Order: sequence, then structure tokens, then C-alpha cells
Amino acid sequence: MSDTKGQVFLVGSGPGGCGMLTIRAREVIDQAEVILYDQLPGEEVLASLPKTAELIDVGKYGDKHTREQNEIELLMVRRAKEGKRVVRLKGGDPFMFGRGGEELETCREHGIQVEVVPGVTSAIAVPASVGIPVTHRKWASQVTVITGNEDPTKEESAIDWEWLARSRGTIVILMGVKNLPVIAQTLIKFGRDPVTPVAVIERGLRPDQRETIGTLATIADLAAAAGVRPPAVIVVGGVVSMYKSDDERMVRPPTPENQ
Ligand code: SAH
Repeated sequence: MSDTKGQVFLVGSGPGGCGMLTIRAREVIDQAEVILYDQLPGEEVLASLPKTAELIDVGKYGDKHTREQNEIELLMVRRAKEGKRVVRLKGGDPFMFGRGGEELETCREHGIQVEVVPGVTSAIAVPASVGIPVTHRKWASQVTVITGNEDPTKEESAIDWEWLARSRGTIVILMGVKNLPVIAQTLIKFGRDPVTPVAVIERGLRPDQRETIGTLATIADLAAAAGVRPPAVIVVGGVVSMYKSDDERMVRPPTPENQ
């Protein structure tokens, strides 16, 4: 399998089990000689990685430290330069808040051949799993996906919260659990209706998926009471009124019955 010339594959695993992997993702994973992964792809996908490959957990290092991004990129480059087929496996899509763009740049700088294997992003598929379409002619003709990592009260926020609050589209927030209270408050402060429905979907498309549904005014308390934890997708907007628990799901998380 080893080529004389190494290659890097930036691969999205999708948000859930192996059923959400693309055929191309499965192919390059199965042929990989080195796989750099973190925990976001979830247990089912991680358990399916080929034992023949060198598997490197770059999400955890030693005890609880996270490897620096540049350290991950250097490792990826080093293995490719050794002539290996290297997969950098990411949850969802590698270019949706996955730092895949930075990894692509690094490969380019080092003259390493790269193939990007897009994945099903949690931003769309996780809401879909509970019957929430991120656009709908009745409610939203635009959708904005943002990182909730940024505290909106920070002066130099990279997100235009005022514009966002006034935009009439759906807002999908990734990495937003910690800042949910301040995000909800900020959207209300800049003019979003406090009764706008909000869904928080934890561990979407996994067997232990859970949803918390409320409004901009109530969601922070509901999420705190439920003990919501990452990873979770937060959806704000009228489309959330399409939410259905259990029986009418568009996409089902794997269970022993439907696997
Ligand atoms: N590249 C990924 C996103 C990476 S950022 C993608 O396209 O999906 C990490 C964030 O993604 C998490 O904090 C969470 O907000 C979201 N996320 C990814 N997988 C998820 C899942 N199965 N359920 C809920 N949220 C998920």
C-alpha cells in the first residue's frame, strides 16, 4: 500500500455512526497507514478504524492536555513526508469549524498532495435528525452557522451579533453550550423576539441523543436544569417549531433495531 510519495486526506466522519460516513471516507480510512483522530467522530466510527493503521489520538495528550494545532499539523506533515497515506479524521465536515482549512494550508506549504473528503456536517444533519429543516419557505430563507465559542459581550467579537439578531434566518450554533445564556441574552438585547423557539440537541445521531426545547427567554435555564453538555447543536428560529421527538424523525440515530 505504501506509496513512495505520501498523501494527506482531510476526512469528515459525519456527526454520528458509520452510516453517516461517505463511501469515499470509508475507502480512504480503510486504506490509511496513519490516522490522526480526536473524539468528535464518536465511538462507533472510532471503533471501526483499521487496526493495521498507526492510530494517533491527537485530541488527548498525556493526561488531559490537548495537542497544539501546530503540533498536529507537523505530525501529519512528517508522516506524509515519510511516504505514508495519512488520514486526518474530523467530526462532521472537515471545513466546518474543523480547522481543516489550516491543515490544508500547511500541506500546501510543504508541497504535500491533499484530498479533501467532505463529510455530513452536524450543523444540518443534527437538526434534521429531529425533523428540523434549517431552511423552510415559511420560516427561513437563510441560515447562519456560527461558533458559540466567542463570548458575545467581548468587545472584539468576530461575530456581528446585532446583525445576526436582526437577520430573519435560522441561526445554528456549534460549540455554544458554555455561552448559551449570554448568547440568548445578546440576541434578545439586539431585537430577536424572546419567544423565538430554540432547540439544543446533544450527541446528535448517537444512541444517547437528547433534546432540550425552549425559547430564547427560557432555554438557558432549561439547559442548565437538564445538565446539557457538549457536543451539542443549538438551533434558533421558527424552523424549530417543526421539531418532533421520536416517532417522526427524518434520520434515526443507530439503535440495535435499525443498525
Ligand atoms: N466539523 C464539525 C464541527 C466541529 S466543531 C461538523 O461539521 O459537524 C464541534 C462542534 O460540532 C461541537 O461542539 C458541536 O456543536 C457540533 N457537533 C459535532 N458533532 C455533533 C453531534 N453528533 N451532536 C451534536 N453536536 C455535534
